[in-house]
Amino acid sequence: MNLFDLKGKTALVTGGNGGIGLGMAKGLAAAGARVAIAGRDKSKSTEALKSLSDGIAVEADLKDEIACQAMVEEAAKRLGRLDILVNNAGTNIRKPPEEYSIEEWRLVLDTNLTSAFVAAQAAYPHMKRAGGGKIVNIGSMMSIFGASFVAPYGASKGGMVQLTRALACAWAKDNIQVNAVLPGWIDTALTRRARADIKGLHERVLARTPAGRWGQPEDLSGIAVFLCSRASDFVTGTAIPVDGGYSSQG
Ligand code: NDP
Repeated sequence: MNLFDLKGKTALVTGGNGGIGLGMAKGLAAAGARVAIAGRDKSKSTEALKSLSDGIAVEADLKDEIACQAMVEEAAKRLGRLDILVNNAGTNIRKPPEEYSIEEWRLVLDTNLTSAFVAAQAAYPHMKRAGGGKIVNIGSMMSIFGASFVAPYGASKGGMVQLTRALACAWAKDNIQVNAVLPGWIDTALTRRARADIKGLHERVLARTPAGRWGQPEDLSGIAVFLCSRASDFVTGTAIPVDGGYSSQG
C-alpha cells in the first residue's frame, strides 16, 4: 500500500469544492495528502472542507488567466509546496453550434482548457524544484465522441487530451507525470442540469453504460490516488476512461 501513500504531499484540485473534484480531493486526502480546493463559491468551499482533513480553500475565477496564476501561487504558498495539480474545474453551455456567441465559446474554452494550461505552467517551477510532480487533467466522453450540443465543450475536452500528451512529453525529463481522466456520466450538479434539460437522458445513459448505473463522484477517488502517487511513476500522457464501460460499448 506504500505505493499509494501521499503523506507529506500537497495537492491543488480546481473545482474541488463539489462534484468530481471533491470526489478526487477526498481520495487524495484519505491517502494522506494536504489538499487545496479552488472554486468561486465560498459557501460551497466551506462546506466541502468539512469532508477533508486539514484542507484549505482558495477562491478563484478560473476563466481569468491572472486569477489562475494567483490561485497556484496562493496554494503553493499556503501549503508550503506543490506536488499535485488536478485540473478539474469545468463548465458547459448546451446549444446548436450555429447559436453560440463568441463570448460563450470563449467562456467554455477559457474555463475548461486555458485554465488547465495556465495552472500547469504556473505549477511547473514548483514541481521542478521539488524534483517531480503529478498533473491530472479532467477530460470527458466528449474527448472521444461528438455530440450536437457541445461544440465548445467538446473542443475543450478534446484539447485537454492533446494538452496532456504535450505536457507529458515535455516534462517527463523533470519527473512530472501528466495524465488525463475521462469520466463517463457522473451524478453531479453539472449533469443534474443536463438531465433536467434533456428528456430521456437519464435512461439513455443507464442503457448505454455496461455497469448499469450512473457514476458517483467517489468513483473518481481511486484513479486520482493512483495517478498522483508513486504507483504511476511510469504512466504519463495517457487518457483513462472512468466510465463504467460507456466508451467500450459499441
Ligand atoms: P460541477 O458543476 O459539480 O463542478 C464544477 C466545478 O468547477 C465546481 O466546483 C465549480 O466551482 C468549478 N468551476 C466552474 N467554473 C469555474 C470557474 N470559472 N472558476 C473556478 N471554478 C469553477 O461539475 P462536475 O463535478 O460534473 O464537473 C467537474 C469536471 O468533470 C468538469 O471539468 C466536467 O467537464 C468534467 N466532467 C463531468 C462529467 C459528469 O458526468 N459529471 C463527465 C465528464 C467530465 P464553483 O461553483 O465554486 O465555481
